[in-house]
Amino acid sequence: MHFTDLGLCAEILRSISEQGYDTPTPIQAQAIPLVLEGRDLMAAAQTGTGKTAGFTLPILQLLSTRDAGLSLKRFKSRALILVPTRELAVQVHDSVRTYGKHLGLKAAAIYGGVGMAPQTRSLRAGVDIIVATPGRLLDHIEQRSADLSGIEILVLDEADRMLDMGFIRDIRKVIALLPKQKQTLLFSATFSDEIRGLVAGLLKNPASVEVARRNAPAEAVAQSVYHVDRERKRDLLIQLIDNHGWHQVLVFTRTKHGADALSERLGKAGIKAAALHGNKSQGQRQRALDDFKRLKVTVLVATDIAARGIDIDELPHVVNYELPHVAEDYVHRIGRTGRAGSSGEAISLVCVDEHRLLRDIERLLKKDIEKRTVEGFEPDPRIRPEPIQNGRGGGARSSQPRGAAPSGQRKPQRAAPGGKPAARSGGQRQGAGYYSGAR
Ligand code: AMP
Repeated sequence: MHFTDLGLCAEILRSISEQGYDTPTPIQAQAIPLVLEGRDLMAAAQTGTGKTAGFTLPILQLLSTRDAGLSLKRFKSRALILVPTRELAVQVHDSVRTYGKHLGLKAAAIYGGVGMAPQTRSLRAGVDIIVATPGRLLDHIEQRSADLSGIEILVLDEADRMLDMGFIRDIRKVIALLPKQKQTLLFSATFSDEIRGLVAGLLKNPASVEVARRNAPAEAVAQSVYHVDRERKRDLLIQLIDNHGWHQVLVFTRTKHGADALSERLGKAGIKAAALHGNKSQGQRQRALDDFKRLKVTVLVATDIAARGIDIDELPHVVNYELPHVAEDYVHRIGRTGRAGSSGEAISLVCVDEHRLLRDIERLLKKDIEKRTVEGFEPDPRIRPEPIQNGRGGGARSSQPRGAAPSGQRKPQRAAPGGKPAARSGGQRQGAGYYSGAR
């Protein structure tokens, strides 16, 4: 199957080939013809499947070929794409611009954390496509800078995440302002009763497409666990990065404080690192992401919420510096790598406090993750588990292991002889596929 088989116009095909893509991913092959037919859609597709182009391409085509109607409709927006996060708004907006490069359509990204004025100006100048987070869009509606009365197509992207993040009321408010007659496309990794409730009556005779099993991690991601003491994770991470010459690593911590502290320590060890979390300004977050994408920083240390929807082509390594409290978040995290056909590696540094979390994750995955230890970093059996006090967004934990040698007693083994990771059993790459486990 080629993109040319999907009924897309020459201008769009041109921008697709400029991106270097010739084969549609499974979600694209299924969704594009249905959207072009004007069908409503319920798509179970996770980040990494190519879903963004799955809705962006046909929307661009529909808007560019369909009569825009009377001149009074000219400055009304015609498509609305609701997304959970600022980063995703920027990414989807980028996709709209990339794929719509040879068409005359205008788009705007509307999200919080930045000034209203530039967004107001672009909305008032007239845009065909609005990519927005729900809260900021409502602010613009209140200020009468966004007019949704001409919306022909609505996309709810990552609907499950939007509900997780508490946007249900905002979404309902926005939907109430849209014309009844419209095409609605719903993309979600999971379909909870809450989502079904939200879209009941909104979707008309929807076509269903599904490309990834719920909570199925990417087949292209090689996963492993390194058992290590909590106080030695940092040194092990530094050694892994140095020994393997990793150039682009996304590292997850549970807390903002943890992300800042780790990023600082990596910097001191001579590894270029930046932190990405909710306390950073929008400008700082975007800069960190851009620097990471351009390989100006080697390590991006992120919290779960901040990393949602991050899209980096062929990100090779994800490290769980701390396991997430919620097993599903593990799947989301490792879905940042091994996307759209490229292979990736996900490593978790697991200390004695986290054994229960690891069991939860393995239960969810329905398989055991390969375990490794690195010479010189073997866990000290005398160290007893401590409760993990720092929940999402919580403070720092105490740094002294109870009933164990104080952390300073074991010297960091950064360049210890023989300090290489244990031999890897089996192939690291487990085939490639388009499927990603990220939501
Ligand atoms: P998404 O699931 O929309 O976040 O897309 C994941 C990644 O796949 C993005 O980096 C896209 O640039 C890439 N991608 C989208 N469509 C294709 C395609 N047909 N072939 C190869 N890569 C693609």
